Amino acid sequence: MTVLQELLQAEFNFEAIEIKKIGGYDNANYSVIGDSSKYIFKTYVFSKDLLAHLEAENEVLLSLERNEKCLFPVPEKFSDGSYLKVVEIDGEQHICRMLAFIDEQFLAEANHSQALLTSFGGFLAELNLQLQKATSYTLQARECEWDLQYYHFSLAYIKDIPNAHNRSIVEYFYRQFETQVLPRISAFRRQIIHGDYNEGNVLVKNDRVVGAIDFGDVTYAPLVYELGIALVYSCYDKEQPLKWIASALKGYNAIIPVEEKEVEILYYVMAARLAVSVCRSAHSRKTDPDNEHALNSEKHSWKLLKYLLRIGPIATEKMLREVCELPKRKELLADVELQKSLQVVSPLLSVSYKNPIVMEKAAFQYMYDSAGNSILDAYNNIPHVGHCHPKVVAAGQIQMASLNTNTRYLYPELSSYAEHLLSKFPKSLTKVFFVNSGSAAADLAYRMACAHTRRKSVMVMEHGYHGNTQIGMEISDYKFSNAKGAGKQNHVLKVAIPDTYRGVYGSENPNSGLKYAKDAIAQMKEFGDEIGAFITEPIIGCGGQVPLAEGYLRALYPAIRAQGGVCISDEVQTGFGRLGDFFWGFEAQGVVPDLVILGKPMANGHPMGAVVVTDEIAASFAQGVEFFSSFGGNPVSCAMGKAVLEVIEEEKLQENAKEVGDYYQSLLEGLKSRFNVIGDVRGSGLFIGVEIVKPGTDEPNTVLAQYIKNELRNANILISTDGPFDNVLKSKPPLCFSKENAKEVVDCLERVLVSNVSSTEGN
Ligand code: PMP
Repeated sequence: MTVLQELLQAEFNFEAIEIKKIGGYDNANYSVIGDSSKYIFKTYVFSKDLLAHLEAENEVLLSLERNEKCLFPVPEKFSDGSYLKVVEIDGEQHICRMLAFIDEQFLAEANHSQALLTSFGGFLAELNLQLQKATSYTLQARECEWDLQYYHFSLAYIKDIPNAHNRSIVEYFYRQFETQVLPRISAFRRQIIHGDYNEGNVLVKNDRVVGAIDFGDVTYAPLVYELGIALVYSCYDKEQPLKWIASALKGYNAIIPVEEKEVEILYYVMAARLAVSVCRSAHSRKTDPDNEHALNSEKHSWKLLKYLLRIGPIATEKMLREVCELPKRKELLADVELQKSLQVVSPLLSVSYKNPIVMEKAAFQYMYDSAGNSILDAYNNIPHVGHCHPKVVAAGQIQMASLNTNTRYLYPELSSYAEHLLSKFPKSLTKVFFVNSGSAAADLAYRMACAHTRRKSVMVMEHGYHGNTQIGMEISDYKFSNAKGAGKQNHVLKVAIPDTYRGVYGSENPNSGLKYAKDAIAQMKEFGDEIGAFITEPIIGCGGQVPLAEGYLRALYPAIRAQGGVCISDEVQTGFGRLGDFFWGFEAQGVVPDLVILGKPMANGHPMGAVVVTDEIAASFAQGVEFFSSFGGNPVSCAMGKAVLEVIEEEKLQENAKEVGDYYQSLLEGLKSRFNVIGDVRGSGLFIGVEIVKPGTDEPNTVLAQYIKNELRNANILISTDGPFDNVLKSKPPLCFSKENAKEVVDCLERVLVSNVSSTEGN
């Protein structure tokens, strides 16, 4: 006879005993069949705290009222009248307890209907009303890893999640919990809660919830945590989670009306519970891989966490308010008012869409507008590693709270970031100058080139754009050739865009890059002055995502240098791994520039730019007046820039840009073969252009491109249009964009094209 059998016989006087070990998170549970009844026997490794907690838990259980529609485990007495006993098992002290087994169906095994879920919510509310009456100092003092009040215990397990992007999602939701929930939570109603009202702890009879077991997580906490946890388990294995949440909430709210402030944070509470759950599952997977109990919720939890990310907090809150019959959520400025307010800033300010979008929040590749729409961001390249990426946000917040100063002092963040950044460049590029925007970087790069070559003459690319400063405008054909632009200045030489789709050398000519380069060299010769600097992007964004024809820079750079000029690559759009195959755009052309301009994605939206140059150019520049930028390279910018580099590496975002970008382009190529209004699909990685043309021609179709852009917006997808005819769809999403996201964009584009074809057929 085993120790357990002996113990049970001695304590509970059983005739025949069958003992079966059943799952448990961190203790051992046994199903025990006596001569007439069933029990659950629980053993826990002894600790004083646990003993006190189990006493408190038993007291809560004993305080509950029971009837046939309200079943809870009944603690059984040991022979000495106590409910807990400390026994030595396998040489170790264990606390033991016996609970009467309730022989009903688990929610996990029942057929789920909306009515059942409403009763799930209702039963929890009834239980909460009962628990309201219980008091326990032990439970008030309890520190439980599952309790959201002690969510920080699980932070240590984030590292056990194998996928780096998944780790970031969890960190994002913890950060939201810290900023959206914790500062407000002290004002919320609190009481003893069950704390783990899940499908394995809820009992069902005749399509109604009739009981709850496992009070192991009972604790004293904000009531909204109880509801958030229950709502997670009401829907996490379902296809349309919100529908199930609504049913459960309806049942709960009918008995305990949910307060407005609780509804405002429920989204974040649910997400935090899921975050704790996936962290602990990841930890279990590492430390106790055979513990199925710990792992079986993991898949569902991830699915729901990602679903919450997709739909966002605003849509969720709107639905919750509706169910609880609370006043509607206040939307930010309505469109018209916003437009009016923009007049105060400047009517020149360029805002996307006729009815601009009022944005309230964003996370990774999703943006959430004030009306509650979750918008797939297939357009914005500034939030390079994802909107509000927690690692970048944390880096900025921590540094901002520690030291932020101008560059007149020494601080380690600058050199540490500069070294990391320069490690990404070819050996000849050794010095970095920090500024606060791509424009400031372009301006500075040109000044440095002038200082080095002692020339002002500059060769620029047709349709190129480099910035909004005086110099930026002078070297940007996109601006100076605009109908309202100032025109080209005499020291500026403009060369034809080496465009293999629209250009004079056609799309099939393998030598077109060389031919364009030769043309440019001929133009240089005719130009009165010797060229001091040549500036171009590797893919001309404002030109309509036009990659420079193969071999162009390889032929042109030596010619520039041969006549004493320097070469500037504007990597504001193309840098930092976006192109997939390459970290920098110039690498695609097999050249190394003398100066590189960086901006936009550098600090994920925090204003930061830089010029990276050779030693020689830096030395020439050092001959002139001192260089000083108040904010350029400040500790906060450097900390955030460094975080961006780290995330690109940890989450393998360059590789993701390659994989998802190739897939995205292949889907678009598929559409091109079916719709003759797609003239060209081009780009690299997640920097893509789709040229929209009149059917079967290469004539630009601006009207259709605008129509597509607006239809995608109506379907909650952001892209933009650009190019000299504004007929090129541009997609350059955050690099965490997934294949699923790419498919969503292309499926939507397909629907728009199909409806466009059928609507024009009748004309
Ligand atoms: N260069 C390029 C290629 C750009 O696309 C831009 C911005 N669109 C800039 C420079 C200027 O950057 P910023 O707007 O940050 O000043």
